[in-house]
Amino acid sequence: MQHDGGIRRRRSRRIMVGKVAVGGDAPISVQSMTNTETTDVAATVAQIEAIQGAGADIVRVSVPSLDAAEAFGVIRRQVQVPLVADIHFDYRIALRVLELGVDCLRINPGNIGRVERVRTVVEKARDLGVPIRIGVNAGSLEKDLQLKYGEPTAEALVESVLRHIDILDHLDFQNFKVSLKASNVFLAMAAYRQIATQIDHPLHLGITEAGGLRSGTVKSAVGLGALLLDGIGDTLRISLAADPVEEVRVGWDLLKSLRLRSRGVNLIACPSCSRQGFDVIGTVNALEARLDDITESLDVAVIGCIVNGPGEARVADLGLTGGTPRHLLYRDGKVQDKLDKADLVDQLERHIRATIRARAEAEASIIARG
Ligand code: SF4
Repeated sequence: MQHDGGIRRRRSRRIMVGKVAVGGDAPISVQSMTNTETTDVAATVAQIEAIQGAGADIVRVSVPSLDAAEAFGVIRRQVQVPLVADIHFDYRIALRVLELGVDCLRINPGNIGRVERVRTVVEKARDLGVPIRIGVNAGSLEKDLQLKYGEPTAEALVESVLRHIDILDHLDFQNFKVSLKASNVFLAMAAYRQIATQIDHPLHLGITEAGGLRSGTVKSAVGLGALLLDGIGDTLRISLAADPVEEVRVGWDLLKSLRLRSRGVNLIACPSCSRQGFDVIGTVNALEARLDDITESLDVAVIGCIVNGPGEARVADLGLTGGTPRHLLYRDGKVQDKLDKADLVDQLERHIRATIRARAEAEASIIARG
């Protein structure tokens, strides 16, 4: 067990999804999935690049047919981010994407038929060093388990995943990670907590079919947040009925809020009220849109008045506090400048970018000095 942002993470074995480590002491990776037609190579590549641009470490692509497998091969050569091929039932698709190049297969060994077929896929994945994600889902539980348990339960999900794991165990294949997804937060949490004590493979977290942008974000934050606080989870996807780029943003915000990872500008903002000295909400929205390209970590407090402004500014890297007649800009807890109302967002953006540049130059000079 190790400390990570104050959370003691479950110790898991490490696998490699392309160049991205998952499990062990690797940072918790953020994933999303394309929703374009995979056979539409240009659209899929564009979406993968957008997802990667938002900060995804790994992107999953559905490969529902052999035509899609051929397209996947072309897509794979055009993008940098590791790709997971999502395959159901047809082992020939798995073999073809393995031939063409893939960083991880999402496939359930129990669903691809005869043992020789499973063996062929697993042997090829082993030869190529490609890991597998076993993913069970409350919505597609095996019929006999539905009958045995009457409804999807945590025990049923765990029994289902252990069956798939058993198949890989018999083939002496341990290069896999596991997910047990449900749209019910309590069910997903219970299933992940159970499996976390039974295996040491990396766990891919998700609340499946969580909902639209707002409700799905809340549901995922509750379920995944509780698991992450328990130290469970090595990689995650926030499933939203929304643009996949939003899934990545939410994933990052979740990890940032638990101090498990940092990326980009972390805005601390007050909700605003009649005391505000400037338009807090408008300023925060404008900054979020403008600072999307920044990957360096920086805490920036945007607070409407002196009630909470100086306190928040003291613990942030940069802080703006509404004041009269001018607003106060803090750097490292000290008032650095006084800003006029006009062009407030422009001025703040300039300060944020200058701070990031100055830090990068300072780091570079330390490295140059050895
Ligand atoms: S910090 Fe000031 S402006 Fe912001 S909510 Fe509190 S009292 Fe209102």
